[in-house]
Amino acid sequence: MGVLTGRTALVTGASRGIGRGIAERLGRDGARVAVHYGRNETAAKETVAAIERAGGSAFAMGVELGVPGDAQALWEEFDRHADGLDILVNNAAIGNTRPIRELEEREYDKAFAVNVKAPFFILKHGMTRLRDGGRVVNISSGLARTAVMPDNMAYAMTKGALDVFSRDLSKVLGSRGITVNSVAPGIIDTDNTAALLHGSPDGWAKAAAISALGGVGEPAEVADVVAFLVSDGGRWVTGSWVDVTGGSLT
Ligand code: NDP
Repeated sequence: MGVLTGRTALVTGASRGIGRGIAERLGRDGARVAVHYGRNETAAKETVAAIERAGGSAFAMGVELGVPGDAQALWEEFDRHADGLDILVNNAAIGNTRPIRELEEREYDKAFAVNVKAPFFILKHGMTRLRDGGRVVNISSGLARTAVMPDNMAYAMTKGALDVFSRDLSKVLGSRGITVNSVAPGIIDTDNTAALLHGSPDGWAKAAAISALGGVGEPAEVADVVAFLVSDGGRWVTGSWVDVTGGSLT
């Protein structure tokens, strides 16, 4: 029996990267996991298979975010598989590493649509499905609190907005015993950071030098922190911004 046995979790963007790491960890802890994905059904099915191999339970659900009606579509699909949920992790997001003078309006709009608008309306339409005592975790970024990579400005702005959402939503849902927190990773080794880490011979070393711990994070390192927040042990932590950057902001 895991600490999350009997609970249902939905992790957006769980086909790959950090979302996958979180889904696998929550599955190991006993939750039944909705593995959301955008386009990569094969990868989502691999996440489900990995959870099942470890003795857990999961299902995949594909819904594109950042388009009109996305949140309603997500919940319609979720309702086909499950009856209510206890844990929601808003993890799916897109980045855009482009200086302000080059970034186009449609790219800016897309980043805000996927990274900010989608989580907002997922909550608006999902609050009734979320059971009392539940958990919401929004995956932010250390870039919301440092200007070390100003070419990621629009992306960092989306995470700043997401953090305000976590803060204020914690007040809205607190009376129901539901906690809401932002978890902010530093540089983590995923497809998203492949160019940064592997695109040049010294990419990895430069990234590692940013953190106080002298390394690059793995999805599991973010997942472990999320696992604490969604467990009973995290019940008195809400409206918080949890730094999982390995000391990259010091
Ligand atoms: P990846 O690019 O590796 O994975 C992104 C996931 O989100 C995939 O599962 C993808 O689904 C899904 N997704 C992306 N866009 C959409 C969309 N429009 N609709 C539906 N699903 C979508 O990202 P990471 O694992 O690196 O990042 C995960 C989270 O962590 C993000 O919120 C990111 O901002 C944050 N973060 C990451 C850091 C890092 O260094 N990697 C650092 C700080 C924060 P599919 O593949 O099926 O399309």
